[in-house]
Amino acid sequence: MNFELTKEQQMIKEMVRDFAKNEIAPMAEELDKTERFPIETFKKMGELGLMGIPFPEEYGGSGGDTISYILAVEEIGKACGSTGLSYAAAISLGASPLYFFGTEEQKQEHLVPLASGKSLGAFGLTEPNAGSDAGGTQTKAVVDGDDFVINGEKCWITNAGFARTVTVTAVTGKDERGKNIISAIIVPTDTPGFTINSNYEKMGVRGSNTSELVLEDVRVPRTNLLGDPQKGFGQFLYTLDGGRISIASLAVGIAQAAYEAALKYSQERKQFGKTLSSFQATQFKLADMAMEIDLARNAVLKAAWLKDQDKPFKKEAAFAKLFASEMATRVCNQAIQIHGGYGYMREYHVERYLRDVKLMEIGEGTSEIQRIVIARQLLS
Ligand SMILES: Cc1cc2nc3c(=O)[nH]c(=O)nc-3n(C[C@H](O)[C@H](O)[C@H](O)COP(=O)(O)OP(=O)(O)OC[C@H]3O[C@@H](n4cnc5c(N)ncnc54)[C@H](O)[C@@H]3O)c2cc1C
Repeated sequence: MNFELTKEQQMIKEMVRDFAKNEIAPMAEELDKTERFPIETFKKMGELGLMGIPFPEEYGGSGGDTISYILAVEEIGKACGSTGLSYAAAISLGASPLYFFGTEEQKQEHLVPLASGKSLGAFGLTEPNAGSDAGGTQTKAVVDGDDFVINGEKCWITNAGFARTVTVTAVTGKDERGKNIISAIIVPTDTPGFTINSNYEKMGVRGSNTSELVLEDVRVPRTNLLGDPQKGFGQFLYTLDGGRISIASLAVGIAQAAYEAALKYSQERKQFGKTLSSFQATQFKLADMAMEIDLARNAVLKAAWLKDQDKPFKKEAAFAKLFASEMATRVCNQAIQIHGGYGYMREYHVERYLRDVKLMEIGEGTSEIQRIVIARQLLS
């Protein structure tokens, strides 16, 4: 495996870094305070081709690879965790399932607007009574003539309040063993009976849109079924495997921002007549932070590389997500510690990094679920 970035990957990284520094970072504090979703940033990212990095040009994408995409996630996440989360969710959860499992017609109708940045997509899996246990999905889709009629409720769905379509999972029948068949269905957000509420008050990633979905007799054509109806469960597990790499990269980006802030502060702040960075206790903290970030980034790159090579990547995606998210929480916590009381104050940003990064241990499969995924791979 060669970790050297190609010229194209390096170019994307630098372009996104500049854009994130100039256009995203200056808004991060305001988005956190006001819980405003930065739709204008997503329009600009669409114009730059960032919303379709890993998709072919024929579907409105930029023809890049997973590595280029996760490099973009890291740079955006470093500038603003909220924007990073919505960016990662739009691509990994909103657009990717359409690309992986959609028919040619579905791709033209639903993927092209997302990949070209004209609108956002979302993925509705979690329900009030089905989180880690996604097999416990209660939303139902019943065939009626040429349509599905969908009833149910989804919670905490990223971007849904600004999305053109949400791919929702629903029970569509029972298999020969009597187990529920869970399928994925594309639902345009303007379908009658589809209500989207964005009233959650979150601890972090407060500028990312998080919505509740209520589906009451929502009628969509049967042609909106995504992929193989019998394999809906496997399809969304595959979608989550890919999404985990991007959440890991987002964790690395937020940790990098926290580390850089702590490094800078430690060289400026003086106590006992010396800078904090001259104390070995601070140096050891910084050394651990830098090392862990680098190791996590390598794990993310390895998982992305495997995916790009069409090799199995489930275990490595879980490694990356688990290690990067727990590492990033440690790093952001230490960044506050290095800042002392100032770190506890909003104006120094590091407290926001910790609030934002905590989600990475929960979303797209908690740390406990990652350990289950890894153990299953080891024992299978
Ligand atoms: C801001 C935000 C954005 C989100 N975006 C989306 C989205 O876009 N789409 C979407 O579908 N979902 C989304 N989610 C939902 C997220 O994926 C779930 O919160 C997550 O999967 C965990 O489910 P849960 O919250 O119901 O926790 P639970 O499953 O109730 O788990 C609670 C605790 O029990 C532990 N636990 C559960 N089962 C086991 C077990 N078998 N062994 C050991 N421990 C276990 C968990 O690890 C956790 O610590 C989002 C959530 C948030 C907070």
